[in-house]
Amino acid sequence: MSFSFWEKETFIGKIDYGIVGCGIVGLNTAINLKLKKPDARVVVFERGYLPHGASTRNAGFACIGSVSELLSDVQIMGEDAVFALVERRYQGLEKLKKRCGENEIQYKGLGGFEIFGVQDELNKDKCFDAVHEFNKKLNSITKTEKTYEKLETKSPFLGMEGIHAAIKNTVEGQLDTGKMMARLLKLAKDIGVIIFFGIEVVKIENEHEPCLILADGESINMRNLILCTNGFARELMPALEVIPARNQVWVTNPLPGLKIKGSFHYLEGYYYFRNVGERLLIGGGRHLDKDGETTSEQGETEIIQNGLRHMVEQIILPRTPYQVEYKWSGIMGLGPTKKPIIKAIDERTFVAVRMGGMGVAIGSLVAEEVADLVLSHD
Ligand SMILES: Cc1cc2nc3c(=O)[nH]c(=O)nc-3n(C[C@H](O)[C@H](O)[C@H](O)COP(=O)(O)OP(=O)(O)OC[C@H]3O[C@@H](n4cnc5c(N)ncnc54)[C@H](O)[C@@H]3O)c2cc1C
Repeated sequence: MSFSFWEKETFIGKIDYGIVGCGIVGLNTAINLKLKKPDARVVVFERGYLPHGASTRNAGFACIGSVSELLSDVQIMGEDAVFALVERRYQGLEKLKKRCGENEIQYKGLGGFEIFGVQDELNKDKCFDAVHEFNKKLNSITKTEKTYEKLETKSPFLGMEGIHAAIKNTVEGQLDTGKMMARLLKLAKDIGVIIFFGIEVVKIENEHEPCLILADGESINMRNLILCTNGFARELMPALEVIPARNQVWVTNPLPGLKIKGSFHYLEGYYYFRNVGERLLIGGGRHLDKDGETTSEQGETEIIQNGLRHMVEQIILPRTPYQVEYKWSGIMGLGPTKKPIIKAIDERTFVAVRMGGMGVAIGSLVAEEVADLVLSHD
């Protein structure tokens, strides 16, 4: 099939900035470019009929990092890099809230909680010991003296079996992921960003200028291309250091009287859960089968589903009848470090990928940085 003259003239041609991927990064990048260059033609290409990446399938945690996760990251990235990343997550969240409006995305500052089980005593002690130092380091970022607060309880914390200790992150919150994406889509459309759904890019060529090759063999040229396909980045640019990582998620039926309120992390964030109104959302368990979950295929597996079931029945909601009403999976983009990749491939081709498990937090800032990078080459 070939594009008609009319299609080329009105829809597909003369693209100044073409963005592949309609997630939080792609949409924010498009908005930033359109705001800075109102006369430019900014077009987003998305293969799903909805944005079908992690941005509509995540847990909606507005978080900057739990103590055990940061301690573990320090071993890999070093302290300076870790706190620089925490600062960027914090700034990203501020930008997201400012752009979308807290009410519109139902942001709730209920706090984040890292919980510790009885068999986790050593880790708990290590984390409790780090709280004072971490609070000093984060003071200049969060503008609060107690970003982290230690909690110890005699009876099980919020009724959770074997949980008597937690660290509260006082600046974290939760939001409605669907409403966040709907808001970004509306903001983009209102200022004239063009969004095409159902367009799968199968190849990128950049001989004279960037060119997308589509699944039906048609090609689309553009002055600048920005790749924002996160966990799927290697499908189009195999040299990028991005590893796809699947996460499986459940949402239960409404459970009147649910005590869980806020965003919770367990085992360095490998399990995460929160309330969605009176429902429980839980996801993770990737540590149970890292090889199996290193995939960009959606799906569910017995080993992870059993892990989620164990968490709900043995720890979070012991002796509480519940039903799983929603099950899904989503694909994250990971790498050897948690730093996103924001770079120019050549004068006209750019990438902003590898958001790790915190793209809701850092995505808006990454989008600003890549838009500035693109404009600096213009
Ligand atoms: C289950 C789960 C829970 C998470 N929970 C949280 C959380 O609570 N808090 C948090 O901060 N982060 C969380 N994350 C991470 C966060 O969701 C991501 O980091 C973030 O959404 C990434 O945004 P993105 O725009 O970079 O990529 P994506 O949202 O993945 O967008 C990439 C888009 O590119 C499209 N695409 C890919 N290939 C092509 C192609 N060839 N042609 C056309 N389009 C293409 C995809 O369909 C997709 O829509 C979670 C992730 C998952 C999977």
